[in-house]
Amino acid sequence: ARSVRRTFRVRGGMLVPDRNIVAVDDVSFEVPAGGVLGVVGESGCGKSTLARLILGLLPPTAGEIVVDGQRVADMDRRARARLIQPVFQDPFASLNPRRRVRDIVGLPLAAQGGLSRREIASQVEAMLERVGLARDMADRLPTQLSGGQRQRVAIARALVLRPRIVVCDEPTSALDVSVQAQILNLLAELRRDLNLTYLFISHNLAVVEHVATEVAVMYLGRIVERAGTEALFRAPQHPYTRALLASVLTPEPGLGVPDVGLGDSLPDPANIPGGCRFHPRCPVAIDRCRHVAPSLTRLPTGIVECHLVVA
Ligand code: SF4
Ligand code: MG
Repeated sequence: ARSVRRTFRVRGGMLVPDRNIVAVDDVSFEVPAGGVLGVVGESGCGKSTLARLILGLLPPTAGEIVVDGQRVADMDRRARARLIQPVFQDPFASLNPRRRVRDIVGLPLAAQGGLSRREIASQVEAMLERVGLARDMADRLPTQLSGGQRQRVAIARALVLRPRIVVCDEPTSALDVSVQAQILNLLAELRRDLNLTYLFISHNLAVVEHVATEVAVMYLGRIVERAGTEALFRAPQHPYTRALLASVLTPEPGLGVPDVGLGDSLPDPANIPGGCRFHPRCPVAIDRCRHVAPSLTRLPTGIVECHLVVA
């Protein structure tokens, strides 16, 4: 992704003027083939917008998303589907309740054209087996499956075209904790076996630490820190990353990002503070932070945007 920016125009009501929301602001990153870039941040930080941009479901206002040297914006739907696929949080919402599992998983193949029904059926069966679903699941409806089984169906549908990149947006957040681990292990196994690259979006830092090779921390639409997973969790540089990590050490570890150390109000994406956008909540802000936006500092371990971090 190169300098990607996406703004939304939000229509105001009687008392609220129209506002421009910059959901993703000048974000650039590369993910090496076979890697997992974890994207973390509070709700409203732009994670899901970033996912939709990468998937080509939303056009960027500026900048470009490039996969293997090809601009996503230049691809047609079918080419894009062969390259990038999503796995979303709620498989129930993303699976057509009236279609049987075999048709749900077969649909991307049918949409590509050129395959016989028999070929589609055999690829679907192989993929269902690959994601750990028994044969008799193929004739069931989504309502006849457990949450974990539904997410396996969603994964099978995402992988049936053998894409290079899978964008996972909170893929386990709707599942019971025991099932979460199974799905995460399945995703890890599939990545190794099929040489997939993941963009893995989650508010759950424990999950990201477990699956990601590299982590990007988003705050109000910008990546404020990016580093290898081990370095980021061992030695976070940005004050926001530190606050996020500290907030995990509360009585319910891993259950999300509570407000400890971050104040009780989520930032308003329509009203981004001047200077460093984190300054109103930053415990170590200096005067300069209110007026001057920090530029990007490259460290041996990654990148950080903070006045207090120097190379
Ligand atoms: Fe805090 Fe200033 Fe660094 Fe922003 S630039 S994170 S306000 S210290
Ligand atoms: Mg989201």
